[in-house]
Amino acid sequence: MSVKIPKMMKELDLNSLKKYLNNTRRHLHSMPETAWLEYKTIDFIYNEIKDLGYEILTGDKILDMSYAMGLPNKETNDLAYKEALLECSSESLKLFKDNRTALVAKMNLYKEKTVAIRFDIDALPIKESDDSSHFPFKKGFSSKTKGIMHSCGHDFHTAIGLALSKLISENKDKLHYNVILIFQPAEEGVRGAKAIVESGILDNVDILLAHHQWSVMPKGKIVCSQNGTLSTHKYDIEIFGKSAHAGICPEKGRNAILSASRTICALYDLQKQSSPSIKLNVGTIIGGQGRNIISDYTKFEMEVRAKDKNIEKEFANNVIEIINKTVKSYDCELKISIKGEAIGAVGNESIARTIYNLSQEISFFNNIQLSDEENRGSEDFTSMMNRVQERGGKACFIGIGAGIKGKELKHHSPNFDIDEESLLPSLLLFYKFLKSI
Ligand SMILES: [Zn+2]
Ligand SMILES: [Zn+2]
Repeated sequence: MSVKIPKMMKELDLNSLKKYLNNTRRHLHSMPETAWLEYKTIDFIYNEIKDLGYEILTGDKILDMSYAMGLPNKETNDLAYKEALLECSSESLKLFKDNRTALVAKMNLYKEKTVAIRFDIDALPIKESDDSSHFPFKKGFSSKTKGIMHSCGHDFHTAIGLALSKLISENKDKLHYNVILIFQPAEEGVRGAKAIVESGILDNVDILLAHHQWSVMPKGKIVCSQNGTLSTHKYDIEIFGKSAHAGICPEKGRNAILSASRTICALYDLQKQSSPSIKLNVGTIIGGQGRNIISDYTKFEMEVRAKDKNIEKEFANNVIEIINKTVKSYDCELKISIKGEAIGAVGNESIARTIYNLSQEISFFNNIQLSDEENRGSEDFTSMMNRVQERGGKACFIGIGAGIKGKELKHHSPNFDIDEESLLPSLLLFYKFLKSI
């Protein structure tokens, strides 16, 4: 399926805006890519935006890759890049080589102040439902990529970002801030934002916004400032022991599985003694070569989360200490890799108030809430918010209800879906905001 792009995107041509949004969203939905491998997606974004009068920034100008977390291995990356080359021009694709799958579009209007908006672009390793009741399947735009799915709605976010880029470009005379649009890779697993933050691209931003469309929030509802995101650290723990014959000389080995088991129990004990708001999970564990061999290697993947960033940080430090101590007591070696990191953030109230007032002008929003503290997991946009707010700017994370009536289509599940009717009002909200400041 190809996206038909209307030539002119006039401000009030709501029908062509809607058509563009729907088509773009469906196109993106059909070609999902996971974190740091969003080559076709970012190439598509680039081609949509490159002739609109923006300064386009890519690569190390907008990503400090030493802060990129949870990168895929070389083999997976090479394969994804090779596949993208079959569909994209090698000329444009090389701008995003080596996992630099971010793009920043800057519209310099020679104003004193700058507003930035973030759109996340990645999908998840989930096999999309082929049930006849699943809307993308029924309409023929479900994932063409085996085992990968836009199961969080980032296809919606990206489509809105692209439509907004066109609206801005055609209505520059109505704006009073320079505008920066950020297309961010690897939001899932909270892995991408920090690399963008550390590039310094946000350091002179006065106002920063992002949004999420939610299937679990009724259509028509908007929360102008969502403040309930959790601080989190994600770790891969690798334990290296020494193998030995389990019957003849087990004492000559150093048991990585035993060391991991004791460590995991100690971690859950630590959680029990800590603040009840702390969440800890060891989600995977692998290791060992055979029943009669003392295992020389075990790996487990874990995360910690908490609402309060100080409590979470302190707990994460204790976690690392316990892992070090326990693993060493079994004489094993240890490698700890940080695979994701996000801190909580609280949105600016005056920005939330502006969004509150503007959303009243859009009839779609019939349930408008200034802010909430509801826990919706973690979101790495908070790293961006914190950077901007630390430097005197204002930031806000908006939640938009897009649930399909009568259905419970959860994020990160194979039958996830949200209502396309939420696309246009979300776009109009951002555009109205840009005009209002
Ligand atoms: Zn998600
Ligand atoms: Zn998401």
